[in-house]
Amino acid sequence: MENRINGHTRLFCLIGSPVGHSGSPAMYNYSFDRLGLDNAYLAFDIPLEKTGEAVEALKLLHVGGFNITMPCKTEVAKYLDDLSPAARLIGACNTVTVSEDGKLTGHNTDGVGFVRNLKEHGVDVAGKKIVVLGAGGAATAVTIQCALSGASEVHIFNRKGYNFYENGEHTVEKIRANVPGCQASIDNLLDSAALAEAVGSCDILVNATKVGMAPLDGETLIDSSLFRPDLVVADTVYNPRETRMIREAQAAGCKAAIGGIGMLLQQGVEAFHLFTGKDMPAQEVMEKFFS
Ligand code: NAP
Repeated sequence: MENRINGHTRLFCLIGSPVGHSGSPAMYNYSFDRLGLDNAYLAFDIPLEKTGEAVEALKLLHVGGFNITMPCKTEVAKYLDDLSPAARLIGACNTVTVSEDGKLTGHNTDGVGFVRNLKEHGVDVAGKKIVVLGAGGAATAVTIQCALSGASEVHIFNRKGYNFYENGEHTVEKIRANVPGCQASIDNLLDSAALAEAVGSCDILVNATKVGMAPLDGETLIDSSLFRPDLVVADTVYNPRETRMIREAQAAGCKAAIGGIGMLLQQGVEAFHLFTGKDMPAQEVMEKFFS
């Protein structure tokens, strides 16, 4: 470290709360080291109401860029100069780049991470009919990015009367208004007949709910009788690495059953590229930090 940090070292960081558990400092610092980049990455615990002050402080310190995690992902947009098309539509940023003249631009790499992870597994979302379970933060990023990346249809399922159904309705409206080539709709996740019909006619099924992660690990929203060999099944949940849905899709012989850890890696790969213009050593990072 004493050989690496010097008077010119550029700071990158993560803001949000909590951040102590985050794998981002390890992933970025390892990658800076491997590529010989004179950068360092730290994590700062910032509560929602301090988001604006934190952004001002980072501007003053001339940071090279920063990531944002909950609860600041939506709030941060107020303090930025510009948003990428995906961040604008998703309504949340997880990455901010800083231009030479200090202009801050917000991006959302979660959806790109999802799409890239599918590509790594030989699956292209372009032209595909996609069913997305969930309408929260991850689901919104996945749904909107799939539409922007050329999906022919996105069909959201969320429990009606719970927290995120209205958010799903807004996502549908945004896609209809901004991505006319993609058909968007939403139905009640508790309507099992509608869900079975949609899964039966889609190409890709995505779980972007909290079902599958603790305390809902061991649970699944999909009856395994709906799985078939020409269906791609993907989860955003990465802890555990293999959810019950993914295990059952594999057992049923689905074309691909893709867990969420690759999405986590690929959103970082995309952010690293936005920060540095260079490719993160993704395979090494996966083996070292995510295996
Ligand atoms: P969030 O904004 O709180 O959304 C949670 C979603 O789960 C909502 O749609 C919610 O719908 C649904 N849900 C919760 N409990 C449910 C239940 N018992 N039955 C059915 N639906 C239920 O959370 P988030 O940040 O989007 O996270 C969602 C998942 O994505 C998490 O498992 C997280 O680990 C994962 N994720 C992965 C990555 C990655 O890089 N791989 C990145 C971000 C998030 P209701 O309206 O019914 O409550």
